[in-house]
Amino acid sequence: MATQAGPQGLRRSVGLADYTTWKVGGTADWFAEPEGLEQLTELVAWARREGLELRVIGAGSNLLVSDAGLAGLTLCQRRLQGSQLDSGSGLVEALAGEPIPTLARRAARAGLAGLEWSVGIPGTVGGAVVMNAGAQGGCTAEWLLDATVLDPQSGATAVLRADELDFAYRHSRLQQEPLVVLSARFQLESGHDPAAVGQRTSANLHSRTSSQPYQQPSCGSVFRNPEPRKAGQLIEGLGLKGLSLGGAQVSPIHANFIVNTGGASAAEIDQLIALVQQRVAEAHGIALHTEVKRLGQFGDLALAA
Ligand SMILES: Cc1cc2nc3c(=O)[nH]c(=O)nc-3n(C[C@H](O)[C@H](O)[C@H](O)COP(=O)(O)OP(=O)(O)OC[C@H]3O[C@@H](n4cnc5c(N)ncnc54)[C@H](O)[C@@H]3O)c2cc1C
Repeated sequence: MATQAGPQGLRRSVGLADYTTWKVGGTADWFAEPEGLEQLTELVAWARREGLELRVIGAGSNLLVSDAGLAGLTLCQRRLQGSQLDSGSGLVEALAGEPIPTLARRAARAGLAGLEWSVGIPGTVGGAVVMNAGAQGGCTAEWLLDATVLDPQSGATAVLRADELDFAYRHSRLQQEPLVVLSARFQLESGHDPAAVGQRTSANLHSRTSSQPYQQPSCGSVFRNPEPRKAGQLIEGLGLKGLSLGGAQVSPIHANFIVNTGGASAAEIDQLIALVQQRVAEAHGIALHTEVKRLGQFGDLALAA
């Protein structure tokens, strides 16, 4: 239990459903949305002094937060925004909370090519680095130069080059290490026609919004593709589109999405994930692994077929 008055911006008992795109999740014991690096550093130091567990979230667009909530301090980065683009060299620097679609649009306007694929991903730059977010043939690892990270234990910062981050399909070493991404630098291609880059960016967004359920709360693709197979095709092939458990439903539009049709709990979403995994394993002998990250405690998922 925290003993001292905390730094500016610290809040007690904050419901996390408003901070995830699935619109589910319990309460964070302590919560803050730092607006600058100094404030963030103070909050991290406070949690360390108080011996509190620290969790960092971005836009919450790849997170299933437990209904039981989260102990310790949850830091949401989505107000830590800002970016600088050099249209001559193609060098782009962004704070961790900058929305990746905003960065993609700004890059297009500056005639910088490289981030057109990212416009439909409703996450932050920090989340994109941690997840190696990608779409339509592109991914973060291809364009990232380096990321500045904070070690919450020591308070030290370090710059990690892209080749030090163990990037793979939707993976980086930051998923295992408790480092806080503060900012990232990208090397984009300069000298492109802004109108052409903008058109490619808009076309990418259109192709996604016309084939995926963007109007309902979701976390995008729930399962990693078991290459060379596609998780969505396996699930659809088993007739599972529309399968519901409480307020959670396998999207009738895209089988790799689970949508919250209203009032879903995290437990219902978690159980539906387990049910889909079970059906795919039984039918194809393939273990589907989640792309979505769980935060907090979840129950035992021994589900009947
Ligand atoms: C409609 C929809 C479509 C989507 N489409 C795609 C897609 O095409 N491709 C794709 O890859 N993803 C997609 N996603 C998933 C999601 O948007 C990405 O994974 C995104 O990169 C997550 O960013 P975030 O800021 O929301 O991170 P969060 O979901 O908040 O966090 C994800 C992980 O990163 C960690 N994290 C976040 N920020 C930081 C930080 N600053 N420092 C340290 N750790 C941090 C969290 O602890 C967590 O482990 C989609 C989601 C939705 C809702």
